[in-house]
Amino acid sequence: MIEDKNQQRTQLSDLGEFGLIDHLTKNFKMSQSSTIKGIGDDAAVLAFENKKIVVSTDLLVESVHFDLSYMPLKHLGYKAVVVNLSDVYAMNAKATQITVSIAVSNRFPLEALEELYAGIETAAKIYNVDVVGGDTTSSNTGLLISVTAIGEVEDEVYRSGAKPNDLLVVSGDLGGAFMGLQVLEREKEVYKVNPNNQPDLEPYTYIIERQLKPEARKDVIQLLKDLDVKPTSMIDISDGLSSEIIHLCKQSNVGCDLYEEKIPLDPQVISTCEEFNIDSTTVALNGGEDYELLFTVSQADFPKIKANPSLSVIGFMKDAKDGMHLVTRGDSKIPLKAQGWKNFND
Ligand SMILES: [Mg+2]
Repeated sequence: MIEDKNQQRTQLSDLGEFGLIDHLTKNFKMSQSSTIKGIGDDAAVLAFENKKIVVSTDLLVESVHFDLSYMPLKHLGYKAVVVNLSDVYAMNAKATQITVSIAVSNRFPLEALEELYAGIETAAKIYNVDVVGGDTTSSNTGLLISVTAIGEVEDEVYRSGAKPNDLLVVSGDLGGAFMGLQVLEREKEVYKVNPNNQPDLEPYTYIIERQLKPEARKDVIQLLKDLDVKPTSMIDISDGLSSEIIHLCKQSNVGCDLYEEKIPLDPQVISTCEEFNIDSTTVALNGGEDYELLFTVSQADFPKIKANPSLSVIGFMKDAKDGMHLVTRGDSKIPLKAQGWKNFND
């Protein structure tokens, strides 16, 4: 589906391992004062004065986590960084450095890796993090990418701090990444049958972008700081609203009522759900990969957040014995289940 625009193909073996990482990262700029030494020695050197450090790692595997038939390598590099930064922000931390390691088979020429690293560089620039290390090695099959993100934090927020009566809040809107994936999968099947078919993706631009080029909510962390709101618990939404709510509830030992009518959905998600004949609430609950922030705040903070277009109050926490429920538009109560992303496709 995505044309290979790289006419030139330089074999990786022409560079050798040592040349490769230097070549791919030679234009990366260091901008964090906590970066003392970046790439180029045996290890990076970082200095954080009187700050706590958060560290988070993700591993992405080709054909498990991404499909290169519709995922451009530049987007993949961008997304690999963003999904890691999302975990750092979910701790109420400021992301400062990343390391990026890849394992790659010889079917990828140097030019493909340059695309991947262009996406990594773009994300690092936009989110203001330094790329301070990494490794490249060969793989017999596909492409693997591992990103480790490092951040600094003063007031960390765990998943475990929610109290009964706290409000449950989510940023942005949900279900877009999953519906974008449905459109891309459908077009891939069409393309297999007729490679000359030019798909009209115009009605799906927002949801496809949500899938291929997600953003982490660094802005929401800043917003909460500006509003003087400290969440009592927080998590990022990588696996779907339902399973993330269950994580917060279980780790905080509380229950929850989630209101179906309050779940924020983009009009494009609603129209695409209608087209695919899928229930939009099910998509928001189980779709995953939205990388929005889900958090709880005390009721006293409600006036500070209620008018904000980036934030939706979608429910409130209860005693653990009351359980975790979805309150439907028809006012019936359904227990929340962690159906998740993988099972949803079956
Ligand atoms: Mg997470």
